[in-house]
Amino acid sequence: MISTESYTPEYVLRLRQFTDVCACPGCRQQPWQITRLWQDQIRHSARPDCDRAAQEIICREDAFVLHSEIAPPPQAARLDPRQQAMNQAAINLAIASDAAPETILYALGVLIGKSRELAEPQQITAFGDELVTMLQQGTLAQAFAQLPPVESYKLATLRALSRSDLDASFDPLTGMTLVLKLNEINVMSTRYLQDMLASLQQDRQLATFMQERRSVFINVLLYVFYHHVFPGVDDRAWEAQYNRLCQHFFSLKMLCALFMQSYLVLDDETLAALFAALHRLPDAEVHDDPLLGGIALLK
Ligand SMILES: [Zn+2]
Repeated sequence: MISTESYTPEYVLRLRQFTDVCACPGCRQQPWQITRLWQDQIRHSARPDCDRAAQEIICREDAFVLHSEIAPPPQAARLDPRQQAMNQAAINLAIASDAAPETILYALGVLIGKSRELAEPQQITAFGDELVTMLQQGTLAQAFAQLPPVESYKLATLRALSRSDLDASFDPLTGMTLVLKLNEINVMSTRYLQDMLASLQQDRQLATFMQERRSVFINVLLYVFYHHVFPGVDDRAWEAQYNRLCQHFFSLKMLCALFMQSYLVLDDETLAALFAALHRLPDAEVHDDPLLGGIALLK
């Protein structure tokens, strides 16, 4: 007999405690709560395009404490064993060390790249464990540091972000400042955009912020891993899913830098609003070379 493990993360428990109905733009379309069923596993979660859910997901350090119980098996397919092995390896990479989130994403890229050769779930698990050790020993951080930076993917992603219809729940002044800033980027020549990218990336405040709020960025990754059972059931789309995750991560980072450069307040509420707004956008267009394009966004 199959036993079904039912998981509920801390962020779902917190969201269930609210007594009023959330009125954010995301919740006007669909309720925040979502349950994903397999014969052998149930994952309770929340939609990331809800502002309230976004805040509970990314801003609380204990958001991904999982509560589990045994449940009756639902009428559903079994979770694919290779997908499950990849998913567990991704989660392990995110929580096993105090590496920077970019280094973790790089390790994930190495895993995705190698996965074509790993037919059996056990092989994926073994390679994932090797990467965890390399993360803990700092060898992956060294390899990552030696990669040459490739600017073109970053410029394209920044340009796409500036053209997106970002609908974030901000006060009017913050909203207008961000719209003007994105519009400025949209009409910039490539030369100016290169300068802009350099100033955003090298922003000291951004580096400090990302260190101080490391758990926010780790939770951004953990959410994608847990909620979407990343990288998904179709292994032909794994590189594309990776590319989208890197684009999402890069975009959030750039928006944080834009906030700082514009002297806007970057607190839990605005961070959550940015995260939710990015999730209300249609799926990003995947780069021509999804794996390398994704990795290029990390440096
Ligand atoms: Zn909501």
